[in-house]
Amino acid sequence: MSDIQFDRICLIGIGLIGSSIAHDLRRLSLTREIVVADHGAAALKRAEELRLGDRYLASAADAVRDADLVIVCVPVGASEAVAKEIAGSLKPGAIVTDVGSTKASVIAQMQPHMPDNVNFIPGHPLAGTEKSGPDAGFPGLFEGRWCIFTPLPGTNEDALRKLRRFWETLGSKVDEMDAEHHDKVLAIVSHLPHLIAYNIVGTADDLETVTESEVIKYSASGFRDFTRLAASDPTMWRDVCLHNRDAILEMLARFSEDLAYLQRAIRWGEGDKIFDLFTRTRAIRRSIVQAGQDVDAPDFGRPHGLEKK
Ligand code: NAP
Repeated sequence: MSDIQFDRICLIGIGLIGSSIAHDLRRLSLTREIVVADHGAAALKRAEELRLGDRYLASAADAVRDADLVIVCVPVGASEAVAKEIAGSLKPGAIVTDVGSTKASVIAQMQPHMPDNVNFIPGHPLAGTEKSGPDAGFPGLFEGRWCIFTPLPGTNEDALRKLRRFWETLGSKVDEMDAEHHDKVLAIVSHLPHLIAYNIVGTADDLETVTESEVIKYSASGFRDFTRLAASDPTMWRDVCLHNRDAILEMLARFSEDLAYLQRAIRWGEGDKIFDLFTRTRAIRRSIVQAGQDVDAPDFGRPHGLEKK
């Protein structure tokens, strides 16, 4: 089946997200040419070995020439450098989008450099794994997942419709919201859980009374789930922390207050409070399963067919 919406698509940054898009572009025959750009020679070479594109370039400026759709797939902290690099070479009428996990900062970094004759539409696919690099990508990553656009006022409706259709062809459900709201929502559903995971695994690593071999040996009991999140790419997550600072600090403050409440309930033996909280949280889990965002399988969901890798 061929559903060509863009003659030439340029992917800047060929890591987990960029390579997953490349796999889908091929699988679904969505373009005539895939141009891959990455500043890392090793990533470019690997992308070529995996045949993720048709051309491979170190220069993003050269790669975007005549591209109808440009998808920026770099860590959010690199957005401004990429925007500056490509600004002078973009095709008039091109759509420029991104996949960054934070949106207000990406807009602040990119928008000032975007020429008036291109359509800049910030986006964020809510799909991923803890892996990174060109080998981490796989076809179908975005199937059944949300992709959130945070369009700027005055965005061209045709371009928006085209990009929406593109992500829907990859299997995503598309939603729109403003960037500040996106950053708050993501701070609680994604950024805070990763920070808690990084912190708990760091705490276990620092413990002197429990040896590292015991932490690894007995990790089946809850800790293991945190280690998966805590294995996520350090560059990407450093950038998320620095570029969604306000929303993350707000969520961390609320989290600390709630943790103190739980701590107090445990200290004073207030079983009812503890039981009420745990009952409320169990209902949230049920709602997530009912919404089709996970399956109701035991052993913390593994392996259950949702994870592709
Ligand atoms: P990744 O696997 O680390 O890939 C990023 C690639 O971009 C790397 O090859 C990196 O090269 C390259 N790069 C960095 N700066 C560049 C620049 N200035 N010019 C050209 N290439 C550059 O990261 P990812 O997981 O695909 O994440 C990419 C974006 O998607 C991030 O903004 C992230 O927030 C977002 N996202 C990630 C997930 C997830 O679960 N991973 C989910 C949704 C959205 P070097 O490594 O050599 O610097």
